[in-house]
Amino acid sequence: MKLVYKTVPPEFLTSLPEGIKYVQKKGQDFLVVEQLFCPDGHSLMADHVRLHGEPSICLEATIGNQQGRIFVDAFWGGHDKLYSFIPTDAERHSLTRARCPHCGVSLMTERACPIERCGSPQAIALNLPGGVNRILVCARLGCPDHELVVQQMPEEISRKLRSINYFGEFHDDMFRGI
Ligand SMILES: [Zn+2]
Ligand SMILES: [Zn+2]
Repeated sequence: MKLVYKTVPPEFLTSLPEGIKYVQKKGQDFLVVEQLFCPDGHSLMADHVRLHGEPSICLEATIGNQQGRIFVDAFWGGHDKLYSFIPTDAERHSLTRARCPHCGVSLMTERACPIERCGSPQAIALNLPGGVNRILVCARLGCPDHELVVQQMPEEISRKLRSINYFGEFHDDMFRGI
């Protein structure tokens, strides 16, 4: 999939949290997740599976009746994924239960998705270095909702970051099949 440019808030670039880096591709700004951990401190980054040239985020996942690895695009707001199994369309948009691929600890947390048509009651919590800041991704993998929870980040920056989606606009047919 093609990278589509969205403006990164300049205020954010001056205070990037550890674990997120800023890259330029073809003269445009992108944020890329560089380090993520499970609650037990295992790295969730997969150097050997790259998406858009960057290591991907590896999760052990159960979707519907299937279980396997998912490799998620590390570009902030990117939604590309590779699966070690072949999810059906319905499964692709159903709720995922994610675990650490190393120790199996659950990465799920209670959180109501703010996107009305989604309504997922759960999110996948990914810890940034230091164990305080984290990324929350809606458990419905077809949903574009993702949030960076950083201590003391002004609400305005948080809101702008949340609206960055590089790929995949939210289409009406997104949840078809559920
Ligand atoms: Zn772990
Ligand atoms: Zn959602």
